[in-house]
Amino acid sequence: MRYIFPPTAPVTLAVLGTSARFPVRRIYCVGRNYNEHVKEMGGDITRSEPVFFTKAAETLVASGQDIPYPPNTQELHHEVELVVAIGPDGIFAYGVGIDLTRRDLQTKAKAQGGPWARAKNFQRSAPCSTLTRAEDVDISRAHIVLRKNGDIVQSSSLNKMIWSVEEIIRYLQKDMDLQAGDLIYTGTPAGVGPVAIGDELSGGIEGLERITVRFV
Ligand code: MN
Repeated sequence: MRYIFPPTAPVTLAVLGTSARFPVRRIYCVGRNYNEHVKEMGGDITRSEPVFFTKAAETLVASGQDIPYPPNTQELHHEVELVVAIGPDGIFAYGVGIDLTRRDLQTKAKAQGGPWARAKNFQRSAPCSTLTRAEDVDISRAHIVLRKNGDIVQSSSLNKMIWSVEEIIRYLQKDMDLQAGDLIYTGTPAGVGPVAIGDELSGGIEGLERITVRFV
């Protein structure tokens, strides 16, 4: 095969306990998946169709990295989330992710009925921890926490998700041709808030590796 220019190398994530990497295909994100977060955003908590949006694989950031504060926002927000990694036989692994959001651009997009792409799918907008294989952990009732500079800012339990991991996967399989390599950011609990230059975010879910990033 000849290319006009060298193709981009695949984006990959580390997996705990093996040197083999997880090759990432697409990133799906679920919006409005914890009632307390729907309420804090001024939304209606009646259960309706799940809300999905996407980020490019290239937006992933591994734990321990510095993230330059992104352009065109005065309101970068953190959203800690369970990340589900799909393998050839269903759920392969879990991780802890942060769905970084340019909230001011999202508020404007919502008001105009426009897409969320600029608010959500920008460079380095998807920090994600090292993955832990699903067979090695039971996360069904695990606690999820985000600390900003050491202080807890988001705290909930994964069993409070409106749409369960299994329901999200079933929906995406029917709707979007879910395949091995796909990641799903499963939505954030309440407590989303601003990030400033110099801040350190550290997200954790019981039984999983942490995600820690600093803004520069
Ligand atoms: Mn989110």
